[in-house]
Amino acid sequence: MTYTFIPNSGDNQGAIPRVLTIAGTDPTGGAGIQADIKSITAAGGFPYSVVTSLVAQNTRGVQEIFTPPIDFLRSQLQSVASDVAIDAVKIGMLGSVEIAEAVKEFIQDIPCLVVLDPVMVASSGDRLLQRDAEAAVLDLAHNADVVTPNLPELAVLAGCDVAATIDEALDQAAGLAKTLQAHVLMKGGHFTGDHADNALVSPDGAVHSVPVQRIATTNTHGTGCSLSSALATRLAAGHSPADAVEWASRWLHEAISNADALKIGTSNGPVDHSHTTRRMTRAASTWAPSASAPTQPRLHPAGPYTQKMWDDTAGYLTDILALPFIQQLGAGTLRHDDFIFYLQQDALYLGQYAKALRKLGGQWAIDADGAIAAEREMQDTWLANIPEEQQRMSQVTQGYTDFLLASVYGDAHAVGQAAVLPCYWLYHEVGLRLAEANHPDHPYHDWLATYASEEFESSTRSAIERVEQALAQNPEHLDAAIKACDIASHYEVDFFDQADRAWVVDK
Ligand code: PLP
Repeated sequence: MTYTFIPNSGDNQGAIPRVLTIAGTDPTGGAGIQADIKSITAAGGFPYSVVTSLVAQNTRGVQEIFTPPIDFLRSQLQSVASDVAIDAVKIGMLGSVEIAEAVKEFIQDIPCLVVLDPVMVASSGDRLLQRDAEAAVLDLAHNADVVTPNLPELAVLAGCDVAATIDEALDQAAGLAKTLQAHVLMKGGHFTGDHADNALVSPDGAVHSVPVQRIATTNTHGTGCSLSSALATRLAAGHSPADAVEWASRWLHEAISNADALKIGTSNGPVDHSHTTRRMTRAASTWAPSASAPTQPRLHPAGPYTQKMWDDTAGYLTDILALPFIQQLGAGTLRHDDFIFYLQQDALYLGQYAKALRKLGGQWAIDADGAIAAEREMQDTWLANIPEEQQRMSQVTQGYTDFLLASVYGDAHAVGQAAVLPCYWLYHEVGLRLAEANHPDHPYHDWLATYASEEFESSTRSAIERVEQALAQNPEHLDAAIKACDIASHYEVDFFDQADRAWVVDK
């Protein structure tokens, strides 16, 4: 059978990548074509889907497989090829020699990127590819741009025993990449230890390593399908293979980190494909009310006014503590470049914050000197060699500091003081919780120690008291003060999340 493809060149530049997945099903939604559709969507693409086999499976394993007649597979492929342009194809479960050959026939002339996940055996131990079809999958792999085998699949394709060490796996991947003249992604999830780094091996043997921190969970059903689909989508969006692997790895890491909270199934459950999207959607809310349950402060309010301020904004601390950035910062697994991004924005922030504090006068102005000292310290210790183009103020930092300056210059004195308070109080509350995870070998030990220090605590207590006194003297400003505190607290959430927004959209 010959297929005539709708041209894809040039007409979709910078637009939504159109990605076709050819795979088997999982009615419980964790793996297979259902995972592919969610992953392609999460990675910013438009998914098309052609089903190879209908798999009766759940989180416990595969119960039954029904494969429609091969002509029906061809018919689906023809329906797609004859009408819609395709920017990338992701191939998953093939099942049999017949299907592998039919898919090869389809993709050999296809004018787009091909990512092959050479699915053979599910992690439940159930076979998803007949043993006699392994050679047909290897044959098909010659038409792929990127191949994403797990360790046993890599061994089959490379004709070796399953690798026992990362170096052995990298050797197998390099051999396979050379044979296929394609990139091979060696997935670190199959080894043990704290790290589950992925490694992209090029046909010339070059290795691009992507750091991935291992998550302690058994809910990883469908991770292979999901990673390869996200990767295909970012490639179709114009990413280099290395950048596409970076993006897909970070996205999947967030999905796995939040898998347990899904509570789906009685055995190895799925990952939360939508976590990043939900986090970003929340960030884009127009009114951004905090729906989260309140968290009790460790530093108590100084009286009824600051009590009311805390009560009305206490959900923001809950939001901050749940952010991937904070979780990883506490665990010491935060990527160095994310930490530097954060510090860079913090340094820019502190310069403006000090101006706001000086305008408020009194003890606030004295604290401004401390803010500038902290900024200098940060510059000297962490930010000494940051290229100038990376020293730009982000939208979040700009918005937050513009708001603070507008408040201290334009609002009543009590309201301006309420606006600057979250940067003490909320920050210290976060610092106290992060400090519990601190230890001498923590990569961010000194930084964590600063924001939980007694010095910061006493200046925070004093700031809370000053706001309490200001409102006690001017109770008519309470509502406006709570509003200012609310806006600033919301910016605090944005501020901590911004490194994790940058990779989703800007990379
Ligand atoms: N089911 C189907 C249809 C698949 O294509 C795949 C992909 O590898 C799986 C199940 C695998 O699931 P698991 O990640 O649990 O091995």
